[in-house]
Amino acid sequence: MKKYIIIIFFILACSSSEGEKNIPEFDGNIAYQYIIEQCDFGPRNPGSTGHQQFANFLQGYLLKNSDKVIIQDFNYFEHITGEDRVGKNLVAQFNLEAEERLLIGAHWDTRAVADEDPNPDNRSIPILGANDGASGTAVLMELAKIFSNNPPPIGIDLVFFDAEDVGISGQPTTYAMGSEYFSKNLPILKPNSAIIVDMVGDKYLNIPIERYSYSVNPDMVKEIWSLANELELNAFEYKVGYDIYDDHVPLWENAKIPAIDIIDFDYPNLFYNYWHTQQDIPENCSPQSLQQVGTLLLNYIYD
Ligand SMILES: [Zn+2]
Repeated sequence: MKKYIIIIFFILACSSSEGEKNIPEFDGNIAYQYIIEQCDFGPRNPGSTGHQQFANFLQGYLLKNSDKVIIQDFNYFEHITGEDRVGKNLVAQFNLEAEERLLIGAHWDTRAVADEDPNPDNRSIPILGANDGASGTAVLMELAKIFSNNPPPIGIDLVFFDAEDVGISGQPTTYAMGSEYFSKNLPILKPNSAIIVDMVGDKYLNIPIERYSYSVNPDMVKEIWSLANELELNAFEYKVGYDIYDDHVPLWENAKIPAIDIIDFDYPNLFYNYWHTQQDIPENCSPQSLQQVGTLLLNYIYD
């Protein structure tokens, strides 16, 4: 009898030490503060002072919190305003020696118009973009700090894309100018795969599988959504949803980087819409939502 107990104890001891992995914690409250800080700059649509000032702030932040920063300036024609502009993609790299590399991207610009706002008077005013712009950027900013303090086992390239939300409604290819340029002029070694995070701050977070992602990289989609299930991150829904034109599309089409998009397009739900309206504000986002997305990414990377 005693012998069995010892054996069982030994097995338990082995399995627990083997099961112990150093997966850093993601702090949703800190990430949420980054949403507020971004919104304090005002709207960050290209050409605005908020856009310019936040670009400087982000560059400074990344220089402090990464192994290497690459700035990619580019010219583009902005369909929604009819302006020729200069955009800025920012890349923060970690574990530069690693051959296996994952790109994690988000857009940091916000939309110049609130063209989906129910009130016509609001439609010509730029949005604050707490969710559409700031949420993905906030997750990446917190990840940068975590990667600096806990060197990741694979190479990571965090890419902050500019000029995503500059398109004309109903004309997808007039959007995503930053990732369009990036994917045609890669400033880094081509990563093995990519994950875009966009609109992940919604207080009522619900993230089905984005359809285009599933067609491009089904293996990664299955792995990510299964992992979310295992971790009981209930925002993630294991079913295929909308097909959305986002920064992952140019990455695949131009550079053949198998990219997926983590996005909750129904903001806040099927019956109301804050997307591209004056209601895209921090109050409609939550730390818990950011925490789920950050936790998933960290488990995917460190496990
Ligand atoms: Zn948008």
